[in-house]
Amino acid sequence: ILSKLAEVQEARLKLPVLAEEQVIMEAVRENPCVVICGETGSGKTTQVPQFLYEAGYASGIIGITEPRRVAAVSMSHRVAKEMNLSTRVVSYQIRYEGNVTSDTKIKFMTDGVLLKEIQKDFLLQRYSVIVIDEAHERSVYTDILIGLLSRIVPLRNKKGMPMKLLVMSATLRVEDFTDNTKLFRIPPPVIKVDARQFPVTIHFNKRTPMEDYTGEVFHKICKIHRMLPPGGILVFLTGQAEVHSLCRRLRKAFPFRKSNEESAFKRHLCHQSLPRIDLDNYSALPVDEGDEDREAGIGDEEDEGSDLEIGDDPNDAEEKADPSIPLYVLPLYSLLAPEQQAKVFRPPPPGTRLCVIATNVAETSLTIPGIKYVVDCGRVKKRFYDRVTGVSSFKVTWTSQASANQRAGRAGRTEPGHCYRLYSSAVFGDFSLFSEAEITRRPVEDLVLQMKDLNIDKVVNFPFPTSPSAEALVAAEQLLVSLGALKEPPRTGRVKDIEQARLSCPITPLGRAMASFPVAPRYAKILALGKQQDCLPYVIAVVAAMTVREIFEDLDRPAGSEDESSKLNQRRARLTQMRRLWAGQGASLLLGDLMVMLGAVGACEFAGCTPKFCEDNGLRYKAMVEIRRLRGQLTNAVNAVCPEVGAFVNPKMTPPTEHQVVCLRQIVLAGLGDHLARRVQGEEILDPKWKNGYKTPLMDEPVFIHPSSALFKTLPEFRAVWSEVPLGLDSVEAEWVPQLLPQY
Ligand code: ADP
Ligand code: MG
Repeated sequence: ILSKLAEVQEARLKLPVLAEEQVIMEAVRENPCVVICGETGSGKTTQVPQFLYEAGYASGIIGITEPRRVAAVSMSHRVAKEMNLSTRVVSYQIRYEGNVTSDTKIKFMTDGVLLKEIQKDFLLQRYSVIVIDEAHERSVYTDILIGLLSRIVPLRNKKGMPMKLLVMSATLRVEDFTDNTKLFRIPPPVIKVDARQFPVTIHFNKRTPMEDYTGEVFHKICKIHRMLPPGGILVFLTGQAEVHSLCRRLRKAFPFRKSNEESAFKRHLCHQSLPRIDLDNYSALPVDEGDEDREAGIGDEEDEGSDLEIGDDPNDAEEKADPSIPLYVLPLYSLLAPEQQAKVFRPPPPGTRLCVIATNVAETSLTIPGIKYVVDCGRVKKRFYDRVTGVSSFKVTWTSQASANQRAGRAGRTEPGHCYRLYSSAVFGDFSLFSEAEITRRPVEDLVLQMKDLNIDKVVNFPFPTSPSAEALVAAEQLLVSLGALKEPPRTGRVKDIEQARLSCPITPLGRAMASFPVAPRYAKILALGKQQDCLPYVIAVVAAMTVREIFEDLDRPAGSEDESSKLNQRRARLTQMRRLWAGQGASLLLGDLMVMLGAVGACEFAGCTPKFCEDNGLRYKAMVEIRRLRGQLTNAVNAVCPEVGAFVNPKMTPPTEHQVVCLRQIVLAGLGDHLARRVQGEEILDPKWKNGYKTPLMDEPVFIHPSSALFKTLPEFRAVWSEVPLGLDSVEAEWVPQLLPQY
């Protein structure tokens, strides 16, 4: 253990941020707020909390916020290990879980968790320092936290309980924080950490694949693996599904486990015939074979020129498995289990090459050791909001130049590296320079409600690092007024006063209850009404199911083979049958697709929420687990507001009665009142295709019921269209799922 610790300490000393320890700590002593900029991997996240601890700032808790759960969990473990302290002292807290104790001195958490704590104790009295990490990501909660802390820190100083604020960024673009006098009247000092970065040669594609870019990524990895010298490969894709499918394809092409099994088999044979072989020292791969890519006719590691421009590989038959050069393929994305995530930090098995297939998490949050090659698809999955419909969806778009450069930088941490951009330099030239702050691209009703709950009535005056548009703020107040979360503004008086009042409506008691639920305001309203007619357990289950994306398995995917196609057909038939069963009969049908979801959740829990039940019935296991956690969390939240209801999660929940179904529908519609659609009638049918369409208040074109919906056959006169809107306290990925609800 000691030598391991020594190893950790040695690695620590090499980090660029260590050279700046004194400068940083002096700035922290002399200023209430300090900004630290340093390349990813320079040691900000792991070292700065230790500096603070060692300099005696642990009289209270040293809190560090991360925009991603992955980072909060993995960094707390790493720092505990480096400091040789228990996780009782260096802990983490994310939306669903944590290991914080009364001894905790260093606490990593998601930014949403800290925001919730500010609601309980505005002055954050338990904390002596707050470190806002990854501020360059400009996530909404990060921005809000910086705005709030810009007020909390001076307040604490005034009260004689000084607190420090550190803002850490991986880029130098911090003017929104430093040159914003509304935020910090005295600009905070900026400390730059010079990271040693080896040169990274950028290779652009001549052409830019528009369709099958994951195919292109696959080919590029195969070429690198076959032809280039040892060194880890880090691949940037856009989402979890892409990551998994590429992992599968690569593992097939360069099997690693299989070759081990084979060698174990061979070893077994050898043991019988050739007992002289040293069994303890038998590597899965003969040593010189592993060196073969060195001699693939490609120049050695050079920084300049196109020597490493990989040409066409004459043996380009990568679909054929090649176990002689095993590739150690690991996925990496936000929602991956921590044990799985931890694997990327360990050295790959001897004789293999590490290949990490990641989403954006690897761009700045985590530094993976030993990466020499980066393959960048140039795209990123981003949430988009339709201003008209209020519907959100994820779309894959080009990333920004700043992000692409961050990605490339991952290749030059330990030695000179190479970055393969699977798009042309012309396309790169068209990328936006930076990604915009998230707050300017999304509806803000959840934030406005949280702020009102903090008694910030005039949200327009809040010191946002970047302010949302006035329209977005007005729309948010209007929605919250219509949900009853804010007091209605007066309708008479001077025009100017009415305008003012419209933007500073105070919160109602209902609004306070809603603000305490970790879901978007519409769903919070639904929960708040749930007490009636003993509907609460159903309401909680429905809200949980509505806010978790894709609970049904995607069976519309194209099949790879005939065999697979027939299996898919079978599964589709099974899911259709189950949907019909879950939709129920008689009164249940009034709940439409919500009843299907309620039935699915109920049945799954009844069966113990096992992977097998999900697999057999077309449910996504991960989604069901998430729903289960959310049900627990929502139940606790409801009990906290209203202890007398004594809600609990019943795994053997019986279906709602007819009366409850009617009640449930009214409750749900109370949150989605502005999302009602009416069947297109007579003269409105301008196009024969519109016959089965529905009109919504905001759109000219009608919308249609999805064939998989429980209402596809019945086509009720009204339906509710709802969408997954940003929720919760963590940055959870979500997708829009159109769902329908009949109405008289
Ligand atoms: P920054 O926050 O500036 O991006 P970090 O403090 O996250 O930098 O990382 C500093 C170094 O610590 C990196 O080189 C990284 O590889 C290493 N590191 C971080 N977490 C782990 C871990 N769990 N296991 C091994 N090394 C790690
Ligand atoms: Mg970091």
